[in-house]
Amino acid sequence: MNKEYNGLNDFKKYLNSKKRIVLKIGTQVLLNDKDKLSLSAFKRICDFSYSLIQQQKEVILVSSGAIATGKDILNITSPSNNFSIPEKQAFAACGQAILMKNYGSFFKKYRIKTAQILLTKDDISSRKRFVNARSTIYELLKNKVVPIINENDTISYEEIKFSDNDHLSALVSNLVCADLLIILSNVKGVYDKNPVLHKDAKLIKTIGNIRGFIEDFKETSKSLQGTGGMKSKLYASYIAAGAGIDTIIISGKDKRNLDLFVNGELPGTFIPSLNNNINKKKHWLLFGMEKKGQIVIDSGAIDAIINKNKSLLASGILAVNGEFKKGEGVYIVNAEGKIFSIGISNFDSKDIKRIKGLKSYEIKAKFGEGAFSALVVHKDKLVTAD
Ligand code: GLU
Repeated sequence: MNKEYNGLNDFKKYLNSKKRIVLKIGTQVLLNDKDKLSLSAFKRICDFSYSLIQQQKEVILVSSGAIATGKDILNITSPSNNFSIPEKQAFAACGQAILMKNYGSFFKKYRIKTAQILLTKDDISSRKRFVNARSTIYELLKNKVVPIINENDTISYEEIKFSDNDHLSALVSNLVCADLLIILSNVKGVYDKNPVLHKDAKLIKTIGNIRGFIEDFKETSKSLQGTGGMKSKLYASYIAAGAGIDTIIISGKDKRNLDLFVNGELPGTFIPSLNNNINKKKHWLLFGMEKKGQIVIDSGAIDAIINKNKSLLASGILAVNGEFKKGEGVYIVNAEGKIFSIGISNFDSKDIKRIKGLKSYEIKAKFGEGAFSALVVHKDKLVTAD
Protein backbone atom coordinates (compact mmCIF):
# COMPACT_ATOMS: atom_id res chain seq x y z
CA MET A 1 0.00 0.00 0.00
CA ASN A 2 1.59 3.24 -1.06
CA LYS A 3 -0.61 6.24 -0.51
CA GLU A 4 0.69 9.49 -1.98
CA TYR A 5 -0.45 12.87 -0.72
CA ASN A 6 1.20 15.35 -3.01
CA GLY A 7 -1.56 17.81 -3.74
CA LEU A 8 -2.68 20.40 -1.20
CA ASN A 9 -6.29 19.41 -1.50
CA ASP A 10 -5.62 15.73 -0.99
CA PHE A 11 -3.57 16.28 2.12
CA LYS A 12 -6.13 18.71 3.48
CA LYS A 13 -8.80 16.09 3.07
CA TYR A 14 -6.55 13.48 4.61
CA LEU A 15 -5.80 15.69 7.62
CA ASN A 16 -9.50 16.46 8.04
CA SER A 17 -10.14 12.77 8.54
CA LYS A 18 -7.63 12.49 11.41
CA LYS A 19 -9.31 13.23 14.70
CA ARG A 20 -6.95 12.01 17.42
CA ILE A 21 -3.32 12.99 17.05
CA VAL A 22 -0.26 12.13 19.13
CA LEU A 23 2.36 14.83 18.80
CA LYS A 24 5.88 13.80 19.76
CA ILE A 25 8.28 16.59 20.63
CA GLY A 26 11.98 15.80 20.82
CA THR A 27 14.40 17.55 23.14
CA GLN A 28 16.22 19.19 20.23
CA VAL A 29 12.99 20.83 19.14
CA LEU A 30 12.74 22.60 22.51
CA LEU A 31 16.33 23.89 22.50
CA ASN A 32 17.80 26.92 20.75
CA ASP A 33 21.08 27.05 18.81
CA LYS A 34 23.00 27.38 22.07
CA ASP A 35 21.35 24.24 23.48
CA LYS A 36 19.31 26.31 25.91
CA LEU A 37 15.63 25.81 26.49
CA SER A 38 13.73 28.05 24.09
CA LEU A 39 10.46 29.60 25.22
CA SER A 40 9.62 30.43 21.64
CA ALA A 41 9.80 26.71 20.89
CA PHE A 42 7.14 26.02 23.55
CA LYS A 43 5.04 28.79 22.02
CA ARG A 44 5.48 27.30 18.56
CA ILE A 45 4.38 23.85 19.75
CA CYS A 46 1.40 25.18 21.69
CA ASP A 47 0.31 27.37 18.73
CA PHE A 48 0.56 24.35 16.44
CA SER A 49 -1.41 22.15 18.85
CA TYR A 50 -4.04 24.85 19.21
CA SER A 51 -4.43 25.09 15.42
CA LEU A 52 -5.06 21.35 15.34
CA ILE A 53 -7.52 21.58 18.23
CA GLN A 54 -9.35 24.33 16.35
CA GLN A 55 -9.75 21.85 13.53
CA GLN A 56 -11.74 19.67 15.98
CA LYS A 57 -8.88 17.33 16.72
CA GLU A 58 -7.81 15.85 20.03
CA VAL A 59 -4.12 16.34 20.71
CA ILE A 60 -1.95 14.31 23.05
CA LEU A 61 1.64 15.46 23.52
CA VAL A 62 4.55 13.14 24.19
CA SER A 63 7.27 15.55 25.17
CA SER A 64 10.93 15.00 25.94
CA GLY A 65 13.07 17.74 27.40
CA ALA A 66 12.93 17.07 31.14
CA ILE A 67 16.61 16.13 31.39
CA ALA A 68 17.80 19.04 29.24
CA THR A 69 15.59 21.46 31.19
CA GLY A 70 16.88 20.17 34.53
CA LYS A 71 20.46 20.54 33.34
CA ASP A 72 19.68 24.10 32.42
CA ILE A 73 18.08 24.87 35.79
CA LEU A 74 21.05 23.45 37.65
CA ASN A 75 23.37 25.56 35.49
CA ILE A 76 25.23 22.55 34.19
CA THR A 77 26.99 23.87 31.16
CA SER A 78 28.88 20.79 30.00
CA PRO A 79 27.61 19.94 26.52
CA SER A 80 28.51 16.28 27.12
CA ASN A 81 25.75 13.76 27.55
CA ASN A 82 27.99 11.58 29.63
CA PHE A 83 26.14 11.83 32.92
CA SER A 84 25.43 9.02 35.36
CA ILE A 85 21.93 7.60 35.63
CA PRO A 86 21.26 9.25 39.06
CA GLU A 87 22.49 12.57 37.63
CA LYS A 88 20.11 12.30 34.68
CA GLN A 89 17.29 11.25 36.99
CA ALA A 90 17.92 14.28 39.17
CA PHE A 91 17.94 16.55 36.08
CA ALA A 92 14.64 15.03 34.98
CA ALA A 93 13.12 15.57 38.45
CA CYS A 94 14.05 19.27 38.30
CA GLY A 95 13.18 19.70 34.65
CA GLN A 96 9.84 17.93 34.38
CA ALA A 97 8.02 20.52 36.52
CA ILE A 98 9.42 23.39 34.46
CA LEU A 99 8.55 21.61 31.24
CA MET A 100 4.94 21.40 32.42
CA LYS A 101 4.97 24.99 33.63
CA ASN A 102 6.07 26.20 30.19
CA TYR A 103 3.47 24.16 28.33
CA GLY A 104 0.84 25.21 30.89
CA SER A 105 1.52 28.90 30.48
CA PHE A 106 1.45 28.89 26.66
CA PHE A 107 -1.66 26.72 26.49
CA LYS A 108 -3.32 28.96 29.08
CA LYS A 109 -3.37 31.79 26.52
CA TYR A 110 -5.82 29.63 24.61
CA ARG A 111 -7.68 28.65 27.78
CA ILE A 112 -6.51 25.10 27.34
CA LYS A 113 -5.78 23.03 30.41
CA THR A 114 -2.97 20.51 30.54
CA ALA A 115 -2.31 17.35 32.54
CA GLN A 116 0.92 15.51 33.21
CA ILE A 117 1.19 11.77 32.72
CA LEU A 118 4.47 10.03 33.47
CA LEU A 119 4.74 6.47 32.27
CA THR A 120 7.29 3.73 32.75
CA LYS A 121 7.86 0.68 30.62
CA ASP A 122 6.03 -1.36 33.27
CA ASP A 123 2.89 0.73 32.79
CA ILE A 124 2.82 -0.28 29.16
CA SER A 125 3.91 -3.88 29.86
CA SER A 126 1.16 -4.58 32.35
CA ARG A 127 -2.15 -4.95 30.54
CA LYS A 128 -4.03 -3.72 33.62
CA ARG A 129 -1.98 -0.52 33.94
CA PHE A 130 -2.06 -0.02 30.17
CA VAL A 131 -5.86 -0.11 30.20
CA ASN A 132 -5.99 2.16 33.28
CA ALA A 133 -3.73 4.74 31.65
CA ARG A 134 -5.97 4.66 28.59
CA SER A 135 -9.10 5.33 30.69
CA THR A 136 -7.42 8.29 32.38
CA ILE A 137 -6.36 9.79 29.05
CA TYR A 138 -9.85 9.32 27.61
CA GLU A 139 -11.32 11.11 30.63
CA LEU A 140 -8.90 14.02 30.13
CA LEU A 141 -9.76 14.25 26.43
CA LYS A 142 -13.44 14.24 27.30
CA ASN A 143 -12.75 17.27 29.48
CA LYS A 144 -10.80 18.99 26.67
CA VAL A 145 -7.55 18.74 28.60
CA VAL A 146 -4.31 18.22 26.67
CA PRO A 147 -2.44 15.25 28.21
CA ILE A 148 1.32 15.76 28.21
CA ILE A 149 3.17 12.49 28.52
CA ASN A 150 6.79 11.74 29.27
CA GLU A 151 8.70 8.80 30.58
CA ASN A 152 8.92 8.69 34.35
CA ASP A 153 12.67 9.12 34.16
CA THR A 154 13.24 9.77 37.85
CA ILE A 155 12.12 6.35 39.02
CA SER A 156 13.03 4.20 36.10
CA TYR A 157 16.59 3.09 35.74
CA GLU A 158 16.01 1.37 32.44
CA GLU A 159 13.98 4.19 30.91
CA ILE A 160 16.84 6.59 30.69
CA LYS A 161 19.34 4.02 29.60
CA PHE A 162 17.43 2.00 27.05
CA SER A 163 14.28 3.56 25.80
CA ASP A 164 13.51 6.76 24.01
CA ASN A 165 10.46 8.91 23.55
CA ASP A 166 10.09 8.04 19.86
CA HIS A 167 9.35 4.50 20.96
CA LEU A 168 7.10 5.75 23.77
CA SER A 169 5.14 7.95 21.36
CA ALA A 170 4.38 4.94 19.15
CA LEU A 171 3.20 2.88 22.12
CA VAL A 172 1.11 5.82 23.33
CA SER A 173 -0.43 6.12 19.85
CA ASN A 174 -1.64 2.54 20.18
CA LEU A 175 -2.65 3.12 23.82
CA VAL A 176 -4.98 5.99 22.92
CA CYS A 177 -6.07 4.50 19.54
CA ALA A 178 -4.70 7.57 17.72
CA ASP A 179 -5.42 8.23 14.06
CA LEU A 180 -2.06 9.84 13.43
CA LEU A 181 1.37 10.16 15.03
CA ILE A 182 3.25 13.35 14.22
CA ILE A 183 6.93 13.27 15.16
CA LEU A 184 8.38 16.76 15.38
CA SER A 185 12.03 16.52 14.60
CA ASN A 186 14.89 18.96 14.14
CA VAL A 187 15.10 18.09 10.44
CA LYS A 188 12.47 18.40 7.75
CA GLY A 189 11.86 14.67 7.41
CA VAL A 190 13.61 11.58 6.06
CA TYR A 191 16.11 12.11 3.23
CA ASP A 192 17.38 9.69 0.61
CA LYS A 193 20.92 10.46 1.81
CA ASN A 194 22.52 12.49 4.54
CA PRO A 195 21.51 16.11 3.76
CA VAL A 196 24.45 17.48 5.73
CA LEU A 197 26.95 15.68 3.52
CA HIS A 198 25.05 15.70 0.23
CA LYS A 199 23.65 18.90 -1.23
CA ASP A 200 21.49 16.92 -3.65
CA ALA A 201 19.80 14.90 -0.88
CA LYS A 202 16.08 14.70 -1.49
CA LEU A 203 13.32 14.66 1.08
CA ILE A 204 11.36 11.42 0.85
CA LYS A 205 7.69 12.33 0.66
CA THR A 206 6.24 8.88 1.34
CA ILE A 207 7.77 5.67 2.69
CA GLY A 208 5.41 3.03 1.36
CA ASN A 209 7.06 0.00 2.87
CA ILE A 210 8.46 1.01 6.23
CA ARG A 211 9.63 -2.46 7.11
CA GLY A 212 11.75 -2.81 3.98
CA PHE A 213 12.95 0.76 4.37
CA ILE A 214 14.22 0.13 7.90
CA GLU A 215 16.04 -2.99 6.72
CA ASP A 216 17.87 -1.00 4.03
CA PHE A 217 18.35 1.86 6.44
CA LYS A 218 20.27 -0.37 8.82
CA GLU A 219 22.65 -1.44 6.09
CA THR A 220 23.34 2.01 4.75
CA SER A 221 22.50 4.00 7.82
CA LYS A 222 25.21 6.57 7.27
CA SER A 223 24.07 7.72 3.87
CA LEU A 224 20.38 7.56 4.68
CA GLN A 225 20.45 9.13 8.05
CA GLY A 226 19.56 12.83 8.25
CA THR A 227 20.30 13.06 11.94
CA GLY A 228 21.39 10.74 14.72
CA GLY A 229 17.86 10.09 15.86
CA MET A 230 16.18 9.20 12.58
CA LYS A 231 16.52 5.46 13.03
CA SER A 232 14.50 5.45 16.24
CA LYS A 233 11.88 7.65 14.56
CA LEU A 234 11.59 5.17 11.72
CA TYR A 235 11.29 2.31 14.16
CA ALA A 236 8.58 4.23 16.03
CA SER A 237 6.71 4.74 12.78
CA TYR A 238 7.01 1.02 12.09
CA ILE A 239 5.43 0.25 15.48
CA ALA A 240 2.68 2.78 14.79
CA ALA A 241 2.19 1.36 11.29
CA GLY A 242 1.66 -2.08 12.84
CA ALA A 243 -1.16 -0.63 14.92
CA GLY A 244 -2.83 0.82 11.82
CA ILE A 245 -1.59 4.35 12.58
CA ASP A 246 0.09 6.61 10.01
CA THR A 247 3.14 8.65 11.00
CA ILE A 248 4.30 12.02 9.70
CA ILE A 249 7.80 13.28 10.44
CA ILE A 250 8.18 17.05 10.09
CA SER A 251 10.42 19.73 11.48
CA GLY A 252 9.25 21.18 14.76
CA LYS A 253 11.91 23.89 14.54
CA ASP A 254 10.39 25.72 11.65
CA LYS A 255 7.18 27.66 12.23
CA ARG A 256 6.56 28.00 8.50
CA ASN A 257 6.49 24.23 8.14
CA LEU A 258 4.01 23.88 10.95
CA ASP A 259 1.80 26.59 9.42
CA LEU A 260 1.95 24.87 6.04
CA PHE A 261 0.92 21.64 7.72
CA VAL A 262 -2.18 23.02 9.43
CA ASN A 263 -3.14 24.68 6.16
CA GLY A 264 -3.12 21.37 4.36
CA GLU A 265 0.39 20.92 2.96
CA LEU A 266 2.83 18.22 3.87
CA PRO A 267 6.36 19.58 4.25
CA GLY A 268 7.78 16.33 5.62
CA THR A 269 7.73 12.55 5.29
CA PHE A 270 4.58 10.46 5.36
CA ILE A 271 4.71 6.84 6.57
CA PRO A 272 1.41 5.06 6.00
CA SER A 273 0.19 2.30 8.26
CA LEU A 274 0.75 -1.32 7.27
CA ASN A 275 -2.64 -2.69 8.13
CA ASN A 276 -5.60 -0.68 9.33
CA ASN A 277 -7.35 -3.68 10.81
CA ILE A 278 -4.69 -5.00 13.17
CA ASN A 279 -5.93 -6.20 16.51
CA LYS A 280 -4.85 -3.70 19.19
CA LYS A 281 -4.29 -6.41 21.77
CA LYS A 282 -2.03 -8.28 19.38
CA HIS A 283 -0.10 -5.05 18.88
CA TRP A 284 0.36 -4.70 22.60
CA LEU A 285 1.59 -8.29 22.85
CA LEU A 286 4.13 -7.65 20.10
CA PHE A 287 5.39 -4.24 21.08
CA GLY A 288 4.11 -3.24 24.51
CA MET A 289 4.47 -6.29 26.68
CA GLU A 290 7.90 -7.00 28.10
CA LYS A 291 9.38 -10.34 27.09
CA LYS A 292 11.21 -12.13 29.90
CA GLY A 293 12.69 -15.22 28.29
CA GLN A 294 12.60 -17.65 25.40
CA ILE A 295 10.97 -20.98 24.73
CA VAL A 296 12.86 -22.98 22.12
CA ILE A 297 10.67 -25.34 20.09
CA ASP A 298 11.08 -28.01 17.42
CA SER A 299 9.99 -27.90 13.78
CA GLY A 300 6.79 -29.88 14.43
CA ALA A 301 5.64 -27.31 16.98
CA ILE A 302 6.59 -24.47 14.61
CA ASP A 303 4.43 -26.00 11.90
CA ALA A 304 1.54 -26.50 14.34
CA ILE A 305 1.67 -22.88 15.51
CA ILE A 306 2.32 -21.13 12.20
CA ASN A 307 0.36 -23.25 9.74
CA LYS A 308 -2.29 -24.92 11.86
CA ASN A 309 -3.06 -22.16 14.37
CA LYS A 310 -2.46 -24.55 17.29
CA SER A 311 -1.39 -23.90 20.89
CA LEU A 312 2.14 -24.62 22.07
CA LEU A 313 2.34 -27.97 23.89
CA ALA A 314 5.11 -29.22 26.16
CA SER A 315 6.03 -32.02 23.77
CA GLY A 316 7.36 -29.56 21.17
CA ILE A 317 9.60 -27.71 23.60
CA LEU A 318 13.34 -28.26 23.32
CA ALA A 319 14.64 -25.78 25.90
CA VAL A 320 13.87 -22.70 27.99
CA ASN A 321 16.14 -19.65 28.17
CA GLY A 322 15.95 -17.08 30.94
CA GLU A 323 13.62 -16.97 33.90
CA PHE A 324 9.99 -15.97 33.80
CA LYS A 325 6.80 -16.47 35.71
CA LYS A 326 3.39 -17.75 34.70
CA GLY A 327 1.54 -14.96 32.86
CA GLU A 328 4.70 -13.25 31.61
CA GLY A 329 5.65 -12.64 27.99
CA VAL A 330 8.14 -14.85 26.18
CA TYR A 331 9.71 -15.12 22.76
CA ILE A 332 9.08 -18.39 20.97
CA VAL A 333 12.18 -19.26 18.98
CA ASN A 334 13.45 -22.11 16.83
CA ALA A 335 16.61 -24.09 17.52
CA GLU A 336 18.69 -21.42 15.73
CA GLY A 337 17.27 -18.70 17.96
CA LYS A 338 15.09 -17.08 15.28
CA ILE A 339 12.08 -15.40 16.87
CA PHE A 340 8.88 -16.13 15.06
CA SER A 341 6.27 -15.82 17.75
CA ILE A 342 5.48 -14.12 21.04
CA GLY A 343 3.25 -15.49 23.71
CA ILE A 344 2.14 -15.46 27.32
CA SER A 345 3.34 -18.47 29.27
CA ASN A 346 0.97 -20.63 31.31
CA PHE A 347 3.86 -21.76 33.52
CA ASP A 348 6.91 -20.51 35.38
CA SER A 349 10.09 -21.21 33.39
CA LYS A 350 11.29 -23.71 36.01
CA ASP A 351 8.14 -25.81 35.53
CA ILE A 352 8.44 -25.78 31.74
CA LYS A 353 11.93 -27.19 32.16
CA ARG A 354 10.37 -30.13 34.03
CA ILE A 355 7.73 -30.95 31.42
CA LYS A 356 9.51 -30.01 28.18
CA GLY A 357 9.52 -32.70 25.52
CA LEU A 358 6.81 -34.74 27.29
CA LYS A 359 3.45 -35.78 25.90
CA SER A 360 0.32 -35.30 27.96
CA TYR A 361 0.18 -38.95 29.17
CA GLU A 362 3.91 -38.82 30.05
CA ILE A 363 3.37 -35.71 32.17
CA LYS A 364 0.53 -37.49 33.97
CA ALA A 365 2.61 -40.61 34.51
CA LYS A 366 5.59 -38.65 35.81
CA PHE A 367 3.92 -36.00 37.97
CA GLY A 368 0.48 -37.46 38.66
CA GLU A 369 -3.01 -36.58 37.48
CA GLY A 370 -3.71 -32.82 37.38
CA ALA A 371 -0.18 -31.69 38.38
CA PHE A 372 0.55 -29.98 35.05
CA SER A 373 -1.36 -29.58 31.83
CA ALA A 374 0.55 -30.01 28.59
CA LEU A 375 -0.65 -26.62 27.32
CA VAL A 376 2.23 -24.17 27.71
CA VAL A 377 1.00 -21.22 25.59
CA HIS A 378 -2.62 -21.08 24.49
CA LYS A 379 -3.13 -20.19 20.80
CA ASP A 380 -5.14 -17.08 21.78
CA LYS A 381 -2.08 -15.80 23.60
CA LEU A 382 0.34 -16.44 20.74
CA VAL A 383 1.11 -13.98 17.98
CA THR A 384 3.40 -14.21 15.04
CA ALA A 385 6.18 -11.68 15.17
CA ASP A 386 6.34 -10.36 11.61
N1 GLU B 1 12.45 11.41 28.84
C1 GLU B 1 13.61 12.15 28.46
C2 GLU B 1 13.47 13.60 28.86
O1 GLU B 1 12.38 14.05 29.12
C3 GLU B 1 13.87 12.11 26.97
C4 GLU B 1 14.01 10.78 26.36
C5 GLU B 1 14.06 10.86 24.83
O2 GLU B 1 13.96 11.92 24.26
O3 GLU B 1 14.17 9.86 24.20
O4 GLU B 1 14.44 14.31 28.88
